[in-house]
Amino acid sequence: MLEISAALEIVLSRASLLAPESTFQLLGRVLAEDIASDLDSPPFAKSTMDGYALRSADSGIDVKLTLIEEVPAGRTPTKVVGPGQTTRVMTGAPIPDGADAVVPHELVDLDQDSICLRGTIPARNFILPRGKEMRTGEVVLPKGTQVNPAAIGLLAAVGRTSVQAYPIPRVAVVSTGDEIVEAGRQPGPSQIRNSNGPMLQALGMSTGAATRYMGIAPDQPGPLANLLRNAFDAAEIVVISGGVSAGSFDFVPGVLKGLGVETHFHKINLKPGKPLLFGTLGSKLVFGLPGNPVSSFVGFELFVRPAVSKMAGYAEPGPNFVTIALATDLKTDNNRVTFLPGRLEVAANGYQVRPGKWFGSADLRAMLTTNALIRVPAGDLFLPAGTLVSTLPLKW
Ligand code: AMP
Ligand code: MG
Repeated sequence: MLEISAALEIVLSRASLLAPESTFQLLGRVLAEDIASDLDSPPFAKSTMDGYALRSADSGIDVKLTLIEEVPAGRTPTKVVGPGQTTRVMTGAPIPDGADAVVPHELVDLDQDSICLRGTIPARNFILPRGKEMRTGEVVLPKGTQVNPAAIGLLAAVGRTSVQAYPIPRVAVVSTGDEIVEAGRQPGPSQIRNSNGPMLQALGMSTGAATRYMGIAPDQPGPLANLLRNAFDAAEIVVISGGVSAGSFDFVPGVLKGLGVETHFHKINLKPGKPLLFGTLGSKLVFGLPGNPVSSFVGFELFVRPAVSKMAGYAEPGPNFVTIALATDLKTDNNRVTFLPGRLEVAANGYQVRPGKWFGSADLRAMLTTNALIRVPAGDLFLPAGTLVSTLPLKW
């Protein structure tokens, strides 16, 4: 059976960048161009303290300096600081010519129009030199940068409101199953409400992707094909829940084939979620996730989220596992690699992960307090507390 890592490699190899576009909606996107600064920053030598600008060579114990000017941030000094003189400067104000150091105001004694120093002040004291942060023409945000809030601030600092960035792929979510009804309806006998549709839409949106919920397809090839056609029109990534196993009403694999989808795998060494299907229609991706809610959730985190990230241009699309100690003993007996719901906790010596209680892949309530998935190997295992386990932290 296909291993998870091999399956992931297949998915990521098919997830390609979309054409860059000029945009001002940048948070979470990846830059498709180098961004250079259009100025020196700071644009002038500036004071990093409220204090007095002076000539360091003048300074010393009990030295008296004459106050000649006051410069708040946003003003330009008009006087050169000469020997025996000082200018009061506020944080962010330009340093006047002649001065080469700032003494903070709490370190001097002020007397009308003069100050008295209590010691020597070294040159460059509390001065941020011109261009210390960046120089005109210097690339400050290279192509490939993943835009975080700091990058947003930096783009503003260099005067860029709109830049070339890679789009985040759009996601379309399709639910399937004759037994599934929308949340607003009262289920009849043998029916259940659609929890996967809203859940997968929320998961999609949590990646930054515009995510559209397309509706429920019955277990009939014709209507299913129609809904899937709409989904492929609406998005670069189609996520289907249910109908993907080998039962006689599982029409998803056949219908996808009929639509021209090339199936790359349809079964992996994974619990929950073995009958997971991945295919492509041209450059578009499609994931068939098993209908049990936890299987859908796990399949999304292991394959769909990384695919979105890769298409969006992230250098590390994930899933990014970390090795963390178990908070309690864990007994498992599974015939496949298994992902268990877990909770990352802060302990005295760092994080640890506590396995949650669950009864299986239909147990969505077990996921309520889950913020990590614990990967345990197949086999009859006893893992004592403290054992290091491979863990996937979740956004939640
Ligand atoms: P399937 O993968 O279609 O065989 O479905 C597996 C199990 O998941 C069945 O018990 C389904 O009723 C259930 N299921 C399928 N789709 C959904 C859904 N959208 N919301 C909640 N449960 C579902
Ligand atoms: Mg079904």
